Amino acid sequence: MSRNRVGGGGMSGPKVEIASLNRIEKKLEKSSSSVSRGLNGREKDRFSVPSPAVKQADHRLVGISKKKSFDEVSETDSEESDVSGSDGDDTTWISRFCNNKGNEFFCEVDHEYIHDDFNLCGLSSQVPFYDLSLDVILDVQSSRGDAFTEEQSKLFESAAENLYGLIHTRYILTSKGMAAMLEKYKNYDFGRCPRVYCCGQPCLPVGQSDVFRSSTVKIYCPKCEDIYYPRSKLQGNIDGAYIGTTFPHLFFMTYPHLKPQKASQWYIPRVFGFKLHKP
Ligand SMILES: [Zn+2]
Repeated sequence: MSRNRVGGGGMSGPKVEIASLNRIEKKLEKSSSSVSRGLNGREKDRFSVPSPAVKQADHRLVGISKKKSFDEVSETDSEESDVSGSDGDDTTWISRFCNNKGNEFFCEVDHEYIHDDFNLCGLSSQVPFYDLSLDVILDVQSSRGDAFTEEQSKLFESAAENLYGLIHTRYILTSKGMAAMLEKYKNYDFGRCPRVYCCGQPCLPVGQSDVFRSSTVKIYCPKCEDIYYPRSKLQGNIDGAYIGTTFPHLFFMTYPHLKPQKASQWYIPRVFGFKLHKP
């Protein structure tokens, strides 16, 4: 996801293969009987947010050209983070994804939230391989996994990242999601304002558009109330729609005590100590 090329780089991919993958997926949908997504656990603190008007110019191929395959990442991750596991790898896909370098802006979405179909309303038409992607996100083991080539698995992985991003947008507007983002804010996970007179004010991520693939994520400084590019290039490649335009502002409405005073000090350009006259 963070490695998606915004603007269509790498989109000239194998169209024939996609078509065949679509056929595979359809077959699987028919034959699969064990997609174990339940309807248990209605989310109590659901926030009634209108479904973002996400529109995909090309929803078939998303982020095919990833710098690093998930397999490589997950292998190393599971080796490194297998501390508390009693039966080997007990980290979830979500946790691995959020711990990947460049994905610091994402919080971990509750499985419970994803299990509630209501929360995912409208997403199935926006993401390719929707059911498979959901299985990937929820760590649903399916016997059909072996049937896919490495290339296909990468494709599904990429679709899963895309779907996770869209779920994430909604989740961070719920009270639970907001609380998760608050923890990250306190840890300065979103970076600080680069403006000198903001004195290292912690920032929040923000999207400039709710439409998928129209812009990358930015950071918003509540002090100078401006937006900036994230420092990390990987973070800067994240789609802005995975955060959305509402989040930071709803955040400070939810936690008003965290809103800093507006910036009062501004840089003044001088030449030999004299202020410049405006032309
Ligand atoms: Zn600032």
